[in-house]
Amino acid sequence: MEKQNQMKKLATIQIDVDGLWVIFQHFGYQKHTTSDILYESALPRFLDLFGQYDIKATFFVVGRDLLVPARISLLKEAVRRGHEIANHTMNHTEGFSYLPAHKKKGEIEEAEKVIESTLGVKPVGFRTPSNDVDEETLKILEDRGYVYDSSLMPTYYGPILKRLKFSSLSIPRKDNYLGKWHYGFSPLHPYNPSYTSLHRRGTMKLLEIPITTMPYLRLPFHASFVFAAASLGLKSLLFDIGFFLLTRSKLGVYNFVFHTNELSDQIFDIKIKRQFGLNLPLSQKQELCSHVLQKITRNFQCVTTKEYVKKFHRTD
Ligand SMILES: [Zn+2]
Repeated sequence: MEKQNQMKKLATIQIDVDGLWVIFQHFGYQKHTTSDILYESALPRFLDLFGQYDIKATFFVVGRDLLVPARISLLKEAVRRGHEIANHTMNHTEGFSYLPAHKKKGEIEEAEKVIESTLGVKPVGFRTPSNDVDEETLKILEDRGYVYDSSLMPTYYGPILKRLKFSSLSIPRKDNYLGKWHYGFSPLHPYNPSYTSLHRRGTMKLLEIPITTMPYLRLPFHASFVFAAASLGLKSLLFDIGFFLLTRSKLGVYNFVFHTNELSDQIFDIKIKRQFGLNLPLSQKQELCSHVLQKITRNFQCVTTKEYVKKFHRTD
């Protein structure tokens, strides 16, 4: 198995560990409870599935969730099994790029401290909520010793997808939800961004690890979109097309992202009914996740993003 893995190309699997309150927040509601069905039902399933497929993954954690003991225990188990914990801000504040510098720094720093004090690990990777990233954020991360950011999603279709979602979300229109339109032209390969235009290569020490979109077409095909397509009856078609193009391209790298709701119990709540994937039956979610991971691990060795960055430096 070890020798077989060494011959495979590298991939990294990331999970945005967004609690149910984050989804409610997207739709303009407040919901903070001690028990969270997304955490409690999805995390153990992800851990088992990763064990089954020999995957070391990266969990992007929102600091605020680490104020709840039950959530700390679940994430401690992830650390114990060799997975990485990365920073996903303290409060998952939407419109992150519009925050003043001191607030951005506060969101990053507070989450970092609570991750260190509860889980005993120092995060070296970061993702903004809703891919809303800017140069100022990357500079703050670099100054704090982060080795990578993974907020960028290189797609030409950001403005269209944003418009479709705005009809149901509470996010203000003055927002870089899914990133700025020109981020669609950024490299698909990990790269060192420029200090003035983060979608271009430059001299930053920090690496940007873009969320992989389809080679050539640049359509997103990470789990949120795969589950959205499945909700429309397309089963795994979107993933299969994206993966086919990926394996036929010369890209040679892969960063696939899940969210907790993609392996949670089925949730019916009228307030968040437009969140794709929540109301799919669990058996269908499990089938889709297994299908995706089976295909990925057949072609790639899945390591934590921290490890991926190291090996990338070594081979680039
Ligand atoms: Zn998130």
